[in-house]
Amino acid sequence: MNKPAVAFFDFASCEGCQLSAINLAPQQLLDLLEVIDIVEFREALSEKADHYDITLIEGSITRKSDIPRLKDIRIRSALVVAFGACAHIGGINALKNFQRPDDYKSAVYPDNPDLFETDMARSIYAFIKVDAFIPGCPIDTDEFVRVVKNLVLGKNPDIPDYPVCVECKQRENICVYERGLTCLGPIIRAGCGARCPSNGGYCYGCRGAIPEPNIYGQKDVMRQYDLTHDQMMDTFKLFLNHNKELF
Ligand code: SF4
Ligand code: SF4
Ligand code: SF4
Repeated sequence: MNKPAVAFFDFASCEGCQLSAINLAPQQLLDLLEVIDIVEFREALSEKADHYDITLIEGSITRKSDIPRLKDIRIRSALVVAFGACAHIGGINALKNFQRPDDYKSAVYPDNPDLFETDMARSIYAFIKVDAFIPGCPIDTDEFVRVVKNLVLGKNPDIPDYPVCVECKQRENICVYERGLTCLGPIIRAGCGARCPSNGGYCYGCRGAIPEPNIYGQKDVMRQYDLTHDQMMDTFKLFLNHNKELF
């Protein structure tokens, strides 16, 4: 019996999520290739295919001319997975949505601002039906292998819907607010093992918000630690820019 055909495509992105897939540890790669065939992947293969059982799409949509290509990929795919924060929630690219197009175009190409077509950055959810997502900037490779295997088996992708704080407490970390840092852990989707607060940093939200995040609670915590409105908004902008209730 043929294994499911899997393809990777990219739109506006740094390609870090695809690189994470290429850099899988040998055992992860063996596990994956036991259950799938990779039939199209620009960064790793020259082969192409017409139809795919599972398609992983990296990157946000930032040009009108991207939309027909995205829709064509959707038509040729049984399942589409948003692969990484850019595709899932717009990612860092969507910071430009807070600026006027003329400003960012002339900041990047001062001599010829109209050299390249560019528009608002949006997640692929804005244009096509998406069946699953793998969050993070970049993706977590263990989670990537698990989600693909679950999809092959027809199971739920099994992405956590509880907040990073749960994993942070399980690791017995001292909350970074006590060190004067700001953290979005109470409203951000777990699954990374609270990677940043466990390693001297803070959660800046790369896995996107949990379902029904308690935004008022998060703002209250920030107020208690004397953050100004502008500081809160700057924190939310990086990865939560699509959450309309925040802005
Ligand atoms: S989610 Fe992050 S690592 Fe992945 S493509 Fe976008 S910017 Fe790069
Ligand atoms: S450091 Fe962040 S993730 Fe950890 S408990 Fe505090 S707010 Fe939650
Ligand atoms: S702690 Fe937050 S910012 Fe860091 S990897 Fe996890 S979700 Fe992303």
